Amino acid sequence: MNFHIVTLPGDGIGPDVTNEAVRVLKHIAEKFGHQFRFEQQLIGGIAIDETGSALPDETLRACLNADAVLLGAVGGPKWDDPRAKTRPEDGLLAIRKGMGLFANLRPVKPHPALAFASPLREEKIRGVDFIVVRELTGGLYFGKPKERRQENGHVSAVDTMEYHDYEIRRIVDLGFKLTQTRQKKLASVDKANVLASSRLWREIATEMHADYPDVKLDHVLVDTAAMRLVTAPASFDVIVTENTFGDILTDEAAVLVGSMGLLPSASLGAGTRGLYEPIHGSAPDIAGKGIANPLGSILSAAMLLRHSLKLENEANAIERAVDEMLSEGCRSADIAREGEQVLNTSEMADEVIGRIR
Ligand code: NAD
Repeated sequence: MNFHIVTLPGDGIGPDVTNEAVRVLKHIAEKFGHQFRFEQQLIGGIAIDETGSALPDETLRACLNADAVLLGAVGGPKWDDPRAKTRPEDGLLAIRKGMGLFANLRPVKPHPALAFASPLREEKIRGVDFIVVRELTGGLYFGKPKERRQENGHVSAVDTMEYHDYEIRRIVDLGFKLTQTRQKKLASVDKANVLASSRLWREIATEMHADYPDVKLDHVLVDTAAMRLVTAPASFDVIVTENTFGDILTDEAAVLVGSMGLLPSASLGAGTRGLYEPIHGSAPDIAGKGIANPLGSILSAAMLLRHSLKLENEANAIERAVDEMLSEGCRSADIAREGEQVLNTSEMADEVIGRIR
């Protein structure tokens, strides 16, 4: 099969880890008889430096013509001036909007050999394997009014949590469909005891459940969900939630795994085209040292194969290889214990490539 993949390495360790994920994808193409055409474009700080925009038109055009997009990370101290007209992170919001991406998927599956790296006790981590599906385009981040006001000598500020029925329906539907390929347990997270938008969310999720009778649907209040993530994380299969709750819960979920460097993510819209990126940032503290863990990016490439290119066997081959190399003790600096041999970024990818069958 022929596919066109746009890469957006970005800033800091973004290029280091993206290069390794591309090497893994090239190996997959060769091994499984596919043709992948890679096209590199600018985003983030480097795009600001070269074009003045965090998301140049040419980048967005290329992404809209591609089958899938693989992103590294954006940002860094060089572009942190609060007075700057544009910031690297503007590129992220713009590309999500430009590509019509409304769902962010973050799988959380700690590797048993790395249970020591989790802040939770080993027995709590055992069996943890869930995905958080976060709504990306609605809620507090975008609702209007969103402004500061001056009244009677006081300043106030307002944000608006607004959701339309169609926004709720499309994300909850994705949650139901995803869990049908897994354990068939959907936790719809809201704050229906307080928020009107959450009451609409819960009403629609309940109504849609009729179309998915094989799925067990639980409504979980966001405060309860936050507690359950640390007291019983293995009880979750798929969590679906709105933008702000998702932002907070996905970071809480990420620390269960032990290192930011290990986790992939996918952002999806209505079609199959998606944007795939590790959850970590540009890690300026280790940029240019060649020691970043590339597994978050490599596992993002596996998600790209699964969700956008529909190459399930190839995705599984990467995930199995990562599983094996971790079981056999391959470690980058962020996941090594004292005295363990430490591999650099390329060596980690070599260990994955060598195990792809
Ligand atoms: P970060 O994720 O870049 O780093 C946090 C810590 O985790 C650092 O100590 C870093 O060295 C470590 N780390 C991250 N990825 C790693 C990897 N692959 N291997 C080994 N160690 C890794 O978060 P931060 O320091 O808060 O942010 C740095 C910059 O990244 C900021 O400019 C921020 O705005 C940006 N950022 C970008 C994204 C994105 O592009 N999606 C996400 C988060 C932060």
